[in-house]
Amino acid sequence: MIKAVRGVHDILPAEAAAWQHVEATARQVLETHGYREIRLPIFERTELFARGIGEVTDIVQKEMYTFEDRAGDSLTLRPEATASLLRAYIEHGLHVQPKPVRLYTMGPMFRYERPQAGRYRQFHQLDVEALGEEHPAVDAELMMMLVELFRALRLADRLQLEVNSIGDAACRPAYRERLAAWLRARAGELCEECRGRIDRNPLRVLDCKNPACRPLLDTAPAIRDALCAPCAEHFARVQRYLDASGLSYVVNPRLVRGLDYYVRTTFELTTTDLGAQNAVAGGGRYDGLIEHLGGPPEAGNGFAIGLERVVLLLGRQQAVEAARPVALLIPLGEAALTRLLPLAEAARSRGVAVDLGYGARRLRAELERANKLGIGHAVIVGDEELTRGEATVRSMTTGQQRGVPLDKLPDELAALRGQP
Ligand SMILES: [Zn+2]
Ligand SMILES: [Zn+2]
Repeated sequence: MIKAVRGVHDILPAEAAAWQHVEATARQVLETHGYREIRLPIFERTELFARGIGEVTDIVQKEMYTFEDRAGDSLTLRPEATASLLRAYIEHGLHVQPKPVRLYTMGPMFRYERPQAGRYRQFHQLDVEALGEEHPAVDAELMMMLVELFRALRLADRLQLEVNSIGDAACRPAYRERLAAWLRARAGELCEECRGRIDRNPLRVLDCKNPACRPLLDTAPAIRDALCAPCAEHFARVQRYLDASGLSYVVNPRLVRGLDYYVRTTFELTTTDLGAQNAVAGGGRYDGLIEHLGGPPEAGNGFAIGLERVVLLLGRQQAVEAARPVALLIPLGEAALTRLLPLAEAARSRGVAVDLGYGARRLRAELERANKLGIGHAVIVGDEELTRGEATVRSMTTGQQRGVPLDKLPDELAALRGQP
């Protein structure tokens, strides 16, 4: 037997209903907020991610699925969506549209990470970007929309919104130096991963999940106190808009992003319901990135949601049920099957889900099948019914039966929809 590759997972029919529910809810909320879908390829030139995510990041150095195609070009399966989305935004000149340009995309992403519960090498994200607008209201609006999406999924009360500002090119470098010096002086008290990051990316050290590092890191200098005046003003306004909306959130001074192009607002939606503290969604502002990728000097802002985690949260909360057929049509014999096949199609073309036996099984076996599938009604047609021009409609719950003219069957099935 050939098994799936380590670290990937199949989404089986029993889980698919939950995925569809999440996707449909997301589309509904996003489109209401003016976001339009963009569908992107799952592989790109490797240099796009090297430039868009950063050469010195873990993602680019250790986690990418990179390969040469037959022409010798270096290609990479996308480890995240923002770089691809911005590439398309620039390539197709979408930046000439009125700002902000609001886009979303969803689908599989690929990272070569150590597989563990809920973490896969092929995983799914919903990625949302608002491009070309510097106003702090965009930051607040994105967060409101993010929370609204989880409210629509009835998960909002199990999540916490955390917000921070990480400054910009004017104020972050000095803070970065100060933080690195502070960390270097205390390197002996930090874990190996932290020590490795002090020079490379000191802000990421603040993010360390190792409980042994936490007490010390909690006393590290906070960037909040190092923000320049425009950054402080921007952050104050974001908070003012959030306050006005009644959204509950906490300012987490340790919430940082590892990537250089992130500026000012960063945010995460976290939960403790999946074991350790876990981010379900994260995002922020990246004002320099579009230009860095060869586009105009425009602001950018967005977030990504890890869909596996959302489905996991949903699974514990409520089982999302797939739509069941309203009836199983049971022909007893070849003549009945020939008569029922077009009637089943007629019902389906009106949007009524029905299942059809093929006349080869006995009535009792078919009724058992209807029970197993949880189908509410059986429609039985044998030679007797064919002579009368009728079908016998049987309720699987009460056992009650009645005759329905065959040419009225599609109407009858439509009427059964929504009945137990
Ligand atoms: Zn550490
Ligand atoms: Zn600043």
